[in-house]
Amino acid sequence: IDYLQENNLYDKVEVAGICCTALETTRYSDRAKIVGPLSRQLFFIRSGIADVIMTDEQCIRTDMPIEAGKVDSRVIACLDKAMYGLEDATEWDTEETVKQMVEDKKHFAILDPKKAAEVAAKVAMEIAPQRRKEWITEEEATELAKKCTQCDMCERVCPNLLGLGKAMKDISEGNLDEPQKLFNKCIGCGKCDQECPQHIPILRVMQVVASKETWKIRAGRGPIMDTEIRNVGAPITLGTIPGVIAFVGCSNYPDIEDVADMVDEFARRKYIVVLTGCAAMVAGMKKDKDGKTVYEKYPPDFDAGGVVNVGSCVSNAHITGAAIKIANIFAALPLRANYEVMADYVLNRVGAVGVAWGAMSQKAASIGTGCNRLGIPVILGPHSAKYRRLYLSRKEEDDWRVMDARKREIVDTGEPSPEHLAYVCETKEKAMVMIPKLCIRKNDTPQGRAIKLNHYISLYKKYMGGGLPEDLHLFVRRDADIPLVYKKEARVYLKEIGWQPKEPVGLPTFIGTYSTKVPLDAVIH
Ligand code: SF4
Ligand code: SF4
Repeated sequence: IDYLQENNLYDKVEVAGICCTALETTRYSDRAKIVGPLSRQLFFIRSGIADVIMTDEQCIRTDMPIEAGKVDSRVIACLDKAMYGLEDATEWDTEETVKQMVEDKKHFAILDPKKAAEVAAKVAMEIAPQRRKEWITEEEATELAKKCTQCDMCERVCPNLLGLGKAMKDISEGNLDEPQKLFNKCIGCGKCDQECPQHIPILRVMQVVASKETWKIRAGRGPIMDTEIRNVGAPITLGTIPGVIAFVGCSNYPDIEDVADMVDEFARRKYIVVLTGCAAMVAGMKKDKDGKTVYEKYPPDFDAGGVVNVGSCVSNAHITGAAIKIANIFAALPLRANYEVMADYVLNRVGAVGVAWGAMSQKAASIGTGCNRLGIPVILGPHSAKYRRLYLSRKEEDDWRVMDARKREIVDTGEPSPEHLAYVCETKEKAMVMIPKLCIRKNDTPQGRAIKLNHYISLYKKYMGGGLPEDLHLFVRRDADIPLVYKKEARVYLKEIGWQPKEPVGLPTFIGTYSTKVPLDAVIH
């Protein structure tokens, strides 16, 4: 971007990005564009729209030069961590590198960003006029789809079990509505293309059903400010802001609209919603009946009902940073060498939940573990079950004792809050019931608990088909915790099962319940 601006070339070369790079470039320049999330990477590369592809180190396909070569694009690897075995042209004469990329269609590693930018811009301007960059026509797609023998090999390998044979039949007959819906569920793995015995380029055929619509996303904004934390610290820890929900990570899930639907539900309910990475992008890829995305419907504030795009996946640290700031600014806990107390505070008092709905790699799943370390429970999407690392409780059997730091005595609360630290949900509906439950903390005031239970019960009724959650009694400490609107129904249920009231814990902490060098006084503020 700097190179194009300094050389007055910005109206000749368009800069677009996929995944986190797109979020970073759009923070820097209002003319940069977002192509889409990680799940659109292969689709976009195979479309051949990019003249030059510049890669960084993460969330990039390992076969990038091969795929780019097939559509006549050129690749520049910009970091030594992922060079694809390409020749290092960092010290070469720029014109020689450009010549070889243009004439010999070579790809190179160029580790000097300024030189890489110059080469990329020059190569793009030279080869763009010679390249065919049109999308497949409907006639071409129809002809390709007609080759389908309905063998179903593609469906068997598709991680989302998409009905591709039927989609090919529809496309061959000119019916594009159903294939369009199917494409929204495609995570762009390319396995179907690989398996097809008829060699139908399925992802390329999908170009005819890919939406040409454009969407709006709020630019990534970076850290949550101290002033914002001062405003919301008290309502979050008392529970009157029912929770902070962070949607993070990649787009490996059953439907690209899942995240937008969840963001809308919780922003409307006055949770604080923060997003990063591909989750931030896909949240903007759905419009309501008035044509608005969640970024246009809700304010950008770190406050009740706000929808905040924090930035790329690297900005996940700003989300955990916000939890740390609550403990530091609001509760005056010291920052240095105090992780144990911080995590204890967050786990017992800050109603925050992470949702890593579509981790595409161990790296993305491990972001969730990073949140767990700080006491933030994380819900993972259905594909994340394969990472095989969950932190689950058996709510009726496990030990839910905490120290009441004010009374200096251990109390058996019997309350599974939060019930799990890492949990997989199969559907967005199940996630939307689990999210409010995992926002419940032992520190909630009666008013805060009633607000949280109100959302838990109403979402349970909305998505699980009526009735009351069967574990409701575990979260009701006293009658005042029951939300007003469900008082009558809940009282009947609690009486039925023999529920007994219990005292809320004044200052809940795990310090003092296990062997640690941290004194109990460290958590009292
Ligand atoms: S590219 Fe899409 S349709 Fe093909 S197998 Fe992968 S998810 Fe399924
Ligand atoms: S693998 Fe190819 S031929 Fe077989 S159903 Fe899929 S698209 Fe058709």
